[in-house]
Amino acid sequence: MLKGKHALVTGSTSGIGLAMAKALAGQGANVMLNGFGDADEIEQIRLGLESEFGVKVLYSGADLSKPDQIEEMMKMAASDFGGVDILINNAGIQYTALVEDFPVEKWDAIIAINLSSAYHTTRLALPHMKKQNWGRVINTASAHGLVASPQKAAYVAAKHGIVGFTKVVALETAETGITANSICPGWVRTELVEKQIKARAEENNISVEEAAKDLVSDKHPSKTFVTPEQIGQTAVFLCSPAADQMTGTSLSVDGGWTAQ
Ligand code: NAD
Repeated sequence: MLKGKHALVTGSTSGIGLAMAKALAGQGANVMLNGFGDADEIEQIRLGLESEFGVKVLYSGADLSKPDQIEEMMKMAASDFGGVDILINNAGIQYTALVEDFPVEKWDAIIAINLSSAYHTTRLALPHMKKQNWGRVINTASAHGLVASPQKAAYVAAKHGIVGFTKVVALETAETGITANSICPGWVRTELVEKQIKARAEENNISVEEAAKDLVSDKHPSKTFVTPEQIGQTAVFLCSPAADQMTGTSLSVDGGWTAQ
């Protein structure tokens, strides 16, 4: 379905982003990966995707907290791919503390990576999308883009921000073949969440598996984690012709969390 399309998935060296990159490659899209990690492991992932799906896979190690590095990454996408047709803004970090204890540098980093980076990639990707009258901007928001939890001030602010930013992009591109949507996952058991599970296990003196069960059951009426693959397939759906008229919306994939 996506043969000949070029996708950039930020934060795709692990977790949800990697699953999205795989899902798009599985549909024939060429993909640029981005994110941190061990260079050899990332190269294995890159080569693995190329050989499994027969697509071209590039990697940019741009630090998305730095606008100049984002510009370099977008220049690389323009020169090696001819531009980005499918932009998935997915990179994100978490930090938990009460507002009065929240370290200023953590606040700044979360806003830069989880929110401002999407503005920079999107502003640089839109001219190409507009020229060809087709494009997809998909932002990984969160259930925390729609509702709040204590101790997550920066994350909740950034995720609510990205839901709003997505709506503006949708309105500004409404008469074109470009759509912009947010995906709002509930709990997905990735590295980002594993840290929170371990902290909960230590705090309550329970096993990691018990802590995982408590964490998901607290928020998901389904009491079941969302899988990265389910988010990958949600992104594929948003790239399909069935979603041509879906724009400016947010899709919850959260086991019923935000229905409560
Ligand atoms: P993850 O930690 O597995 O992946 C995060 C990715 O972002 C990694 O590839 C990491 O290298 C990259 N990254 C971090 N800082 C970066 C930076 N400065 N520059 C470039 N890349 C950077 O976590 P994940 O759970 O897969 O998170 C992916 C997205 O999904 C995030 O935006 C997160 O907020 C969102 N999300 C996660 C969950 C969940 O339960 N896991 C729920 C809702 C939303």
